[in-house]
Amino acid sequence: MPATRAKKKVNAAPKARSQKWVYLFAGGKAEGNAKMRALLGGKGAGLAEMTNAGLPVPPGFTITTAACNAYFKGGGKLPAGLWDQVERGLATIEKTTKKKLGDPKDPLLVSVRSGAAMSMPGMMDTVLNLGLNDQSRQGLATLTKNERFAWDAYRRFISMFGRIVLDIPAEKFDSGLEKKKGARADTDLTAKELEALVGEFKAIVKRETGRPFPTEPHDQLRLAVEAVFGSWFGQRAKDYRKQFKISDDLGTACSVVTMVFGNMGDDSGTGVAFTRDPNTGEKTLYGEYLTNAQGEDVVAGIRTPLKIDQLKRDMPKAYAQFEKIAQRLEKHYRDAQDLEFTIERGKLYMLQTRSAKRTARAAMKIATDMVREKLITKDEAIQRVDPLQVEQLLVPGFDPAAVERARKEGRFLAKGLNASPGAATGRAVFDADRAVALKGQKQLVVLVRPETSPDDFHGMIAATGILTARGGSTSHAAVVARGLGLPCVAGVAALEIDLAKREMRVGGALIKEGDAISIDGTTGEVFAGELTTNPPSYEKETQLIELLSWADKRRRLGVWVNADTPGECIEARKLGAEGVGLARTEHMFRQAERLPYVQDMIMADSEAGRKIALAKLLPFQQGDFREMYKAMDGLPVVIRLIDPPLHEFLREFADVDIDIAVAEATGRDGPEIEQKRKVWRRLEQIHEDNPMLGLRGCRLLLVYPEILEMQIRAILGAAADSAEVGVSAKPEIMMPLVGTMGELDRLRDQVMSVAAAVEKERGRKVPFKFGTMIEIPRACIIADEIATKTEFFSFGTNDLTQTVLGISRDDAQKSFLTKYVEQRIIPDDPFQVIDRGGVGEMMKMGVDRGRKTKPDLKIGICGEHAGEPSSVAFCHEIGLTYVSPSTYRVPVARLAAAQAALAMKERDR
Ligand code: PEP
Ligand code: MG
Repeated sequence: MPATRAKKKVNAAPKARSQKWVYLFAGGKAEGNAKMRALLGGKGAGLAEMTNAGLPVPPGFTITTAACNAYFKGGGKLPAGLWDQVERGLATIEKTTKKKLGDPKDPLLVSVRSGAAMSMPGMMDTVLNLGLNDQSRQGLATLTKNERFAWDAYRRFISMFGRIVLDIPAEKFDSGLEKKKGARADTDLTAKELEALVGEFKAIVKRETGRPFPTEPHDQLRLAVEAVFGSWFGQRAKDYRKQFKISDDLGTACSVVTMVFGNMGDDSGTGVAFTRDPNTGEKTLYGEYLTNAQGEDVVAGIRTPLKIDQLKRDMPKAYAQFEKIAQRLEKHYRDAQDLEFTIERGKLYMLQTRSAKRTARAAMKIATDMVREKLITKDEAIQRVDPLQVEQLLVPGFDPAAVERARKEGRFLAKGLNASPGAATGRAVFDADRAVALKGQKQLVVLVRPETSPDDFHGMIAATGILTARGGSTSHAAVVARGLGLPCVAGVAALEIDLAKREMRVGGALIKEGDAISIDGTTGEVFAGELTTNPPSYEKETQLIELLSWADKRRRLGVWVNADTPGECIEARKLGAEGVGLARTEHMFRQAERLPYVQDMIMADSEAGRKIALAKLLPFQQGDFREMYKAMDGLPVVIRLIDPPLHEFLREFADVDIDIAVAEATGRDGPEIEQKRKVWRRLEQIHEDNPMLGLRGCRLLLVYPEILEMQIRAILGAAADSAEVGVSAKPEIMMPLVGTMGELDRLRDQVMSVAAAVEKERGRKVPFKFGTMIEIPRACIIADEIATKTEFFSFGTNDLTQTVLGISRDDAQKSFLTKYVEQRIIPDDPFQVIDRGGVGEMMKMGVDRGRKTKPDLKIGICGEHAGEPSSVAFCHEIGLTYVSPSTYRVPVARLAAAQAALAMKERDR
């Protein structure tokens, strides 16, 4: 035994040292493949797969995400063995290209590119043209017989390296370039001017870092690799991960790729293209390119690029080859691809392929088209679309009449690229931090920037829309906006933005910070002032309707809706709701003509007084229910009796004590003040320090049974009215906040006795179901008993979360909960995503115990979680009967429920 242990120990150390950190792709063969995204990042895996498929990929290697994680674990030190493997990888590239890094005669130049498993467009760093110094620049010039090109590559390298690796603010280099350029494009700079710029850039590096620019290429490489790793924890990468819930533990890979040059003259270029239009999903090559430019120029929005069609005319051979490759890659991956390419003196190179980010509309079209093209199955199509994206299709657009009016009034300002669809109106702000600040003040803002930069990410997520002067529709900001479902208009050349003055001039108008503007990301148009928006039309979303029809066949969960008005019911039914899972009756009391009666009812200090007020409310409620039954004809309507604490109806009396004090101080006493004193005394009487845990829900109904009586009369009376006109009403009466059998028994008896009275008065049977919310922990615990007296349960996960976690649903988000999520003390806001470990376990107990008594007990959920995809999946897993989200989440839930069913089937297989 000891011998074996000793042997194992000996083996362990070399294994750690010999961990493979570097995967080559060179000479038509790659060590990695598409399945290795987690280890090689999307970019590394794509480069490997394309190499193996025989596509023209410049040789290189990928350093793994594991190396990045080891780097951070080691406190910012490259792990043992890594650099040897990098050197060996480099030697292979040098052999393949017959060039050497730093060789003054024939230098190899490389790019050092970040790339995580999940696409995070533009959120991390990349360094191009690495390997240049004074000598190798000379070599490059001699070799290419192009002085200008060599100086251009060198100045780009110094500024990029300075910015990314040496942390020098970008403006330092930009202002140098702007001064040289004046009004010209940077392609117009001469070799001499570029040479001077190199001198200036070197001086900036020396001044800012206190050291000369590093000239040794291997040192450059090492520093660049570390900077790429470091960018994983850069601010914008962190913000992006937080927004999209990507784990910090994944790390980024780092691909070192032989440089090919799109800036070697007019037979060279670089571009980005999608195999299908990422806005509409149309099957057409969609993208942009620039001649005589490097990749960063296209995505960073420095020059406004040309449409890819133009490439067909400029370089027909390269275009034809690219088109063929694009089709091949799409077929291979069975999904729309986002491609990066460079043409160096007429020769095409592929630099990236990845699954394309797309708008909701495009996602829908691509998924349904690909089923028709027999590229994917219906089940795959269902799984391809993010359920939350569905909601984006239901985003509003501007009212055409308002647009027309705005035009006539001269409020049309300019037109740019329609980079991400949807309409947004808000106050113009010119920097990301201001956008965040104004959002904090509950203002709608449109973020206006000269160009699109991922550094603005925090401002983008605070904005309702984004407007930029430069940049294309494949720029990072456009891609990110699409992912966020934010309207974006990009590349509006007519904008003259003055960041210092916080204003812009456009189309003869001056827009200052805080002025309202409206942007239409679907048409690319920009207007001054506010425009009214129109709700979207679900009926026109034929692809979504088709996809959801497939989803409906896969899902087991029912999808109902939380609706409080007949109008909401009509809308929700169009969106596919199969019943109303929660009508909050107190919402009906809030309308202007009803509130005074509600207040009278609360203020009354006797049962008789309350009954007078309730009698006035009865016809309103009964009328509402009649209309809701009509809208939901034949479908169940769960009506919950009054729930919230009474003080919520008394907010307008908040200042009576001040009025009384002022009147007393000024001697203006009288009957009006006497009435206010009465109000004040009643408020004192019903005041609670903790109303959310006080007299609300069924407690209120037990203390004031006349409220229950009025509501049951309205519910059943309306059902009887409906039956008389041939409408099939299916009321289900639901009790809020039940926690004990004592409560439930008493409530049930009262309901049954009022029901018997109504039936007698109306001379007909009025069928209904009786059930309860399950929203406090004790109800979960005694669910087996509760089930003996109820026909259905509905989880109120808003209150259940509040009571299981002991966190106030009204206050916690503004005080500590958001911080908890930001600092990852908890993974998600439990009021948005079901806390599976606590609330979820309680729900499971409720389901198990309830169904022990009644195996086919109908159980739903009507908390906000019912429209959140991962929570819907949980509801599927624990066997709920239906989910009941808000209206526009109905399609989201239909798709999420189908995905949950498919995922479970896959797991069981
Ligand atoms: C709940 O608590 O989840 C619920 C649906 O009821 P409300 O939000 O009205 O308290
Ligand atoms: Mg509740």
